[in-house]
This record gives sequence, structure tokens and C-alpha cells, in this order.
Amino acid sequence: MTELTIPKGGKHIFAPGPTNVPADIRREVARDLIHHVTPEYAELLWKVTDKLKKVFKTEQYVLSTTATGSAGMEASVINFFSKGDKVIVLNTGNFGNRFLEICKVYKLDVVELKYEWGKAYELEDVKKALAENPDVKGILVNHSETSTGVLNAVQPLGELTKNTDILLIVDVISGLIVNEFEFDKWGVDCAVAASQKGFLLPPGLIYFALSKKAKKATETSDLPKFYFDFKRYFQFLEMGRHPQTPAINLVIATDYVCDYLLERTIEKVTAHHKMLREYIESELVKLGFKLFVEDESTRSNTVIPVWGIEGIPCNDLRKQLSEKHNIVVAGGYGYLQPDMLRVGNIGKYEISDIDFLISNMKMAIEEVRAENK
Ligand SMILES: *Cc1c(COP(=O)(O)O)cnc(C)c1O
Repeated sequence: MTELTIPKGGKHIFAPGPTNVPADIRREVARDLIHHVTPEYAELLWKVTDKLKKVFKTEQYVLSTTATGSAGMEASVINFFSKGDKVIVLNTGNFGNRFLEICKVYKLDVVELKYEWGKAYELEDVKKALAENPDVKGILVNHSETSTGVLNAVQPLGELTKNTDILLIVDVISGLIVNEFEFDKWGVDCAVAASQKGFLLPPGLIYFALSKKAKKATETSDLPKFYFDFKRYFQFLEMGRHPQTPAINLVIATDYVCDYLLERTIEKVTAHHKMLREYIESELVKLGFKLFVEDESTRSNTVIPVWGIEGIPCNDLRKQLSEKHNIVVAGGYGYLQPDMLRVGNIGKYEISDIDFLISNMKMAIEEVRAENK
């Protein structure tokens, strides 16, 4: 994998996905297409599917389709449940809320466990909710909650659902690769990921790991679906196809990225993101920012949210960074919008990229301070 090279005039993106796509991956995306109903494509799809299994750490099933992460969240609801089914949604931020909204649209009976932003879910609450609701069919959780920078522990939930009929559905869209994740070992039933996050690709392709238990549930689920019906994806995968025209160039590039990840090993890539997260945290604190997620054991490597500096409105600083320094940093989400910055750590960064970000931030802070005087 080449180092990050930002094309002339382009911006350095420090957002939790998408981020700058390294030059060698851009070349893969730009390759001449192969037709998707050919033996050549079937070989490619089967090969990519096997590599993705290693990324998710599963020996069960992997499916993929053309859409964004939110569509993947919707597909993770409509393929397993039936009208009126009871599910527990662990709502720790904006994307937890999205799961909740999807479940409501499809008329599921939702038990919502809602947490203050910046906090992870509490296992005791889940145990209590399960005891009070013996008819629960699924638990839905966001691994890395990108709106708040919180990492929710998935493994303890798997311990609760493993030997039951309850399905554990996990949004690992921004979590996979960047944070530790073990599909089989942790007893997850459905995990959804997206190309524009830890895979360093442009948006457009989503990936699902599914357990045998989840595959079985697709056979009885009666929620309406056509495009996202997993039953059809399983049938077509046997033929080396998708039920529709896939984003072929992203499938080609996924193959390339998986090679890079598996050669380097997922463990090393994850450890690199963790090292950078700690470095970004300490550098931001030195500049005067305050970390938003207080409990260190629940901090995601994906994104570092911080409270702004007194007298330096976050939106002014982001504008200055973007317009004068060609650097994009995300703002706060929802009610935190004006008060927070979220520095993404999902891209292909080295320490030198972070030093570049921090030295430009230092300048931008002084520029905003001078302007506001
Ligand atoms: C980015 C993200 C999504 C939404 O993905 P889109 O591709 O924007 O639809 C969902 N969940 C999490 C945790 C995310 O980070």
C-alpha cells in the first residue's frame, strides 16, 4: 500500500469516513470493468467473499451488495424479523437512533435502552431487559458509535445470545478493522460493514457477515423486501453473482484492499489505529481540547470527539481549517454540533499525517483567535 498522497488541490480528510483513498487503491477502482455475468466475475466474487470472511473473522457466511451503510442497517433488520417481533435496541447515539427508527418503520416492538451521549451501554440493563421480556427476538447494537466516539462491547452480548434463539445484530460500519472485532468467537449473528470506512474505499459497497442462525431466520422473516432480500443473495452467490448489477469496480478494489489488510494482518492494522488514536488524543489535549468520552475503556479508535477551546467556536475553526489549510475535520453531531470537533482516525495515516494536522490546527486556532478579537 502506498502512503497517502493527496492530489493537488485536494483536501486532507480527517473525518470518520469517507477519507482520502490512497493512490494505489484509486488505481484499482479505475480499472477496466469486467462483466458481472461471466465466469471471470464469479471467480472474483468467490475470492473476495473468502477474503472478507477473514476480515470479519468468520467461517460462516459473507454477502455483499451495492448501497451505503444505512441501507445495510435496514437490510440487517428486514431479513431476520417479522411484523410485531420484539427487539432490544441499544441506543448510544445517532446511529443507535437510526436502528431505532428503522425498527419502528417496520413495526417491530422495540425495547429501547437509551444512554447519555458519550456513554456505552450497560450490560446489567440488557440482562434486566431480557429477563423482563422473554419474547425478545433480537438485540441491535452499534459497535463503534461514530456520533459520540464510543465503542460498545460486543462480546458480552454474544455471551447472552449464543445459546438462545435471540439474534445479535451489530453495526460494525465504522468499527471493523479499526477496532478489534471477532464475528465467530464473539457469537455475532449479523454484522454490517461499509466500503468507505475502514476499507479505505469510496462509498458504494456494503458487506455482511452472517451466522447459520441468521441464515435460518431469513427463511421465516415476513418483513417486506425485494432488493435486500438475503435469500436471493445466497442463491446468486452460488452462481458467482449478485441479484443485480454490482458496483463491479468496488468489488475489484475490495479484493485489493483485503490482500493488503490480510498481508499486514488485521491485528497489526487495528493496533496501528489504536496507537494513532492515543497520539491524537494527547496532541489535542495539549492544544487545549477536552476529550468527550471520559471512560478510556469505551473509546473507539475510529474517531476522537473533543469539546472546543474557550473563545474558539468549533465551526469557525473547521471553516478556517478547510478554507485556509485544506483540512476537513468533522463537527459534532446533533445537539453537540456547535461545541465539538470529531477527528477521524479511520484513514491510512502515519504519525507524520497527525503531526501535519496538529501543526495546521495550531495555526488555525491562532488565526481564529486573531479574527475574533
Ligand atoms: C457511517 C456510518 C453509518 C452510515 O453509513 P452511510 O454509508 O452514511 O449510510 C452507519 N453507522 C455507523 C456506525 C457509521 O459510522
